[in-house]
Amino acid sequence: MQLDPRVEAAVEASKRETLRSLQELCRQPSVSAQDLGVKECSRLLESMMKEAGLKTRIVTEHGGQPIVYGERWEPGARKTVLFYNHYDVQPPEPLDEWKSGPFDPQIRDGFLYARGASDNKGNIIARLQSLKTLIGVDGKLPLNVKFLAEGEEEVGSPYLYRFVEKNPALLKADGCLWEGASSDAKGRPVIALGAKGMVYIELRAKGPNVDMHSSYSTLIENPGWRLVEALGSIRDKDGRVLVDGFYGDVEQPSSDEIKYLKEMPFDEETILKKTYGVSRFAKNLSGLEAKLEHFFRPTCNIAGVNSGYTGIGSKTVLPKSAFAKIDLRMVPRQKPDKILEAFRSHLRAKGYGDFEFLVESSYEAARTPMSDPIVKVVRETAKDIYGVEPVVHPSMAGSGPMYLFVNRLKIPTASIGIGHFGSKIHAPNENIRVEDLHRGTRYIVELMRRMAHS
Ligand SMILES: [Zn+2]
Repeated sequence: MQLDPRVEAAVEASKRETLRSLQELCRQPSVSAQDLGVKECSRLLESMMKEAGLKTRIVTEHGGQPIVYGERWEPGARKTVLFYNHYDVQPPEPLDEWKSGPFDPQIRDGFLYARGASDNKGNIIARLQSLKTLIGVDGKLPLNVKFLAEGEEEVGSPYLYRFVEKNPALLKADGCLWEGASSDAKGRPVIALGAKGMVYIELRAKGPNVDMHSSYSTLIENPGWRLVEALGSIRDKDGRVLVDGFYGDVEQPSSDEIKYLKEMPFDEETILKKTYGVSRFAKNLSGLEAKLEHFFRPTCNIAGVNSGYTGIGSKTVLPKSAFAKIDLRMVPRQKPDKILEAFRSHLRAKGYGDFEFLVESSYEAARTPMSDPIVKVVRETAKDIYGVEPVVHPSMAGSGPMYLFVNRLKIPTASIGIGHFGSKIHAPNENIRVEDLHRGTRYIVELMRRMAHS
């Protein structure tokens, strides 16, 4: 398809400026987990949003890190699009694995390396640049725009719900473009229509009031063993969660979804061998079963376990405590409170009711149906911009606060992004292909035009 040559020319002419803006945004650290530079970044982003033609404000009343909100109303526009982004980033550690500093954006062989380049500052810049491009070419936007960027997505968006629940009218929109999905291993753009929910718990087992000589393991119970036994009671060796009621609300995919999944590309070889160096999936899953497990089923994952001495050499010790962190990713209809209660009663019933049970985050899943009109628009636009059929994932396998917009505000939502399969988000040497930044700008320009008339 021939795209508007005026847009092509404008994107081409502003390539250097776009790249410079992204470098400037990446140079400003904004590590929410460490409260490093987040407020400074919110101010920098606000000035960039202003420059892109948005009327902005920084919101702090919800508590937590600032939300940068901007909007632009176009006289006569019939539709409104909401952009969801986050300007915070993951901690850059381990620093010695970066080839250049995480906050010193460098370009090598057509790739830009920096923490946040893909997740999620590159998307922010592509989106802002698309607003500037449209205003430059047409003198206006084809629809009303609302632009929300939060500063603590990477720590589970703990306070975003307060802002969203208090401002349903402010955030009302016909469709939402989420950040996140990247192109896959074969370069096909991915569109993801949902996100799993999240329950994050920490279990703490307590023993004696000090670390002891391990000869006392004759008489004193070791909290390390008790924790391991408790963890062992949660799952069988095939990975099935043994907590009563855990699967109770899990919906079976519809026959349409199964039909779609069967045809959906899913590059097992690349995921397995090239990227992660493993020879098989858990439970030897493959084909349709692997896709069902990945997109439609909840998980129960041990994120970390710690107790006693783990340094070099040997130290015989009976530790005074042991703890584990567990993340559960839930699918639509599973209710976080119900799952938490099921875990508490499981532990009580198994004799671990004395464990401390801390909840670090808990929110539900969200999903926009494949049949929603927004899917058709995004799909067709992606195909025209990338020149290949996009891959639509019924949900991300990951989580995010999408439920606030999809479940509460009833806004159909699609996640798209400028990252690529090797973007290494959350890891050292995070990067984007520079060309993807500019293609992302064209993608959003075209999407806004089509959404305005859909
Ligand atoms: Zn992230």
